[in-house]
Amino acid sequence: MARYTEAVCRICRRENTKLFLKGDRCYANKCAFERRSHAPGQHGGRRGKLSDYGTQLREKQKVKRTYGLLEKQFRSLFDQAVRQKGVTGANLLILLERRLDNIVYRLGFASSRNQARQLVTHGHFLVNDHKVDIPSYLVKGGDSVTLREKSRQNLNVQQSLETVARRGTPRWLELDKAAFSGRVKELPLREDLTMTVSEQLIVELYSK
Ligand code: SF4
Repeated sequence: MARYTEAVCRICRRENTKLFLKGDRCYANKCAFERRSHAPGQHGGRRGKLSDYGTQLREKQKVKRTYGLLEKQFRSLFDQAVRQKGVTGANLLILLERRLDNIVYRLGFASSRNQARQLVTHGHFLVNDHKVDIPSYLVKGGDSVTLREKSRQNLNVQQSLETVARRGTPRWLELDKAAFSGRVKELPLREDLTMTVSEQLIVELYSK
């Protein structure tokens, strides 16, 4: 599948915020955004005032890139959010959080969503005791997500679990580090999602 393969730190600089795409490096003083926060490219130092459309587009790109989705996948989740009851923007963010790769990242089995996606694709996880290797799989409240027995020596996972305390586990998830297992206690509410985002701008963009 097509993926964004350029230096990911450029994305943070483009979106003018830290998106935490590189795992541990994002928390160290090596973070490229901390050192050079202006947009990449020859004229990156000059950020002009954005039009309404530009503001909406940047907000959508920021969220899409944070979760590492392609436009088609993101749009499809948005359409699903529209069909659900409630506020579309909040529905969209909650759907994004429910993706299995995000849950693996949030539980601390991976230091970035990109790494989590690879681990899921390589079949390292069980959902409710069944192997699931689809990163876009949507977990439900009460589901368990467990690292397979034969994957527990994986160095990346072990390193990530060692530093999980720094990121913390969200209220709606529960991690049992010793058992290499986590549980979705309940689905998140909009207020559980701490990322600074104006999801209404995304709704406006797609409603044009
Ligand atoms: Fe973004 Fe992380 Fe790179 Fe910093 S280190 S610019 S937060 S991806």
